[in-house]
Amino acid sequence: MNNRWRTYIRQRKILVKLGVERYDITKPHKCPVCGQHEFPWGNSFLVCPVCDWMDDGVQEDEPDRDGCANRHSLNWNRQRWAEKNK
Ligand SMILES: [Zn+2]
Repeated sequence: MNNRWRTYIRQRKILVKLGVERYDITKPHKCPVCGQHEFPWGNSFLVCPVCDWMDDGVQEDEPDRDGCANRHSLNWNRQRWAEKNK
């Protein structure tokens, strides 16, 4: 780990503590759709290999919102996932 990265992480942790930043990038974040995959941190914009959900913090805050990183809302995807895995 180089110094700039360490400084970045320290700053992010302060922002989380202050409530400015919601996601601690040193803590893994469980996929909100399938619950079977952990992203390395929250709001990572990585794609879940299990259910194809792109990890978007805005849509997670507003689960009925369409058209951010994912075309359909979080609730739409959850429902579809539940139906597919009955
Ligand atoms: Zn998933």
